[in-house]
Amino acid sequence: MSYTISKLIPEDELREGIKKVAERINNDYGDKDVHLVCVLKGGVYFLTELSKYLKMNVSIDFMSVSSYGSSTVSSGVVKIIKDLDEPIKDKNVIVVEDIVDTGNTLSYLISMLKDREPASIKLCTMLDKPSRREKDIDADYTAFTIPDKFVLGFGLDFDQKYRNLPYIGVVEFDEQ
Ligand code: 5GP
Repeated sequence: MSYTISKLIPEDELREGIKKVAERINNDYGDKDVHLVCVLKGGVYFLTELSKYLKMNVSIDFMSVSSYGSSTVSSGVVKIIKDLDEPIKDKNVIVVEDIVDTGNTLSYLISMLKDREPASIKLCTMLDKPSRREKDIDADYTAFTIPDKFVLGFGLDFDQKYRNLPYIGVVEFDEQ
């Protein structure tokens, strides 16, 4: 399978978009503490960039769920691979995600986290692909809305590669 990668969101645009989301969070939460829950592995680059611009006290925790194998098509099956290290009861939780696509992963995750009685819970995503939504879920904070393309870079992989690209790229599969 041959493919080419082209730039969708260059590095400087990405940084500016993420800064704007951070400003909105700063305005909304003021000096309240926030607890960022990062969904591994794709959310890591977004979490670190976003958290640099947050002004309140921030704590972080990680969880890992599976919805994609090495394929580029959502299976709709969500499994917890790694749970959070700490309880989220009474915390102001912001779930930090790389991308909301069908919404299957997030709708499962958010309802599971709500059962743990956080003070509040919001969803912050770097990318949103609303055209493919299967579950009724909207992010509270979105840095970029993108078309229905398979993207990679800045945490997002293609067969576990390309997470370290500093920009968001699009994979174009060549005709066979
Ligand atoms: P959803 O459950 O919303 O369909 O999928 C969420 C997860 O699927 C994301 O956290 C991400 O890991 C993966 N995903 C969805 N779309 C893409 C994409 O365009 N590129 C990559 N690399 N992963 C994607």
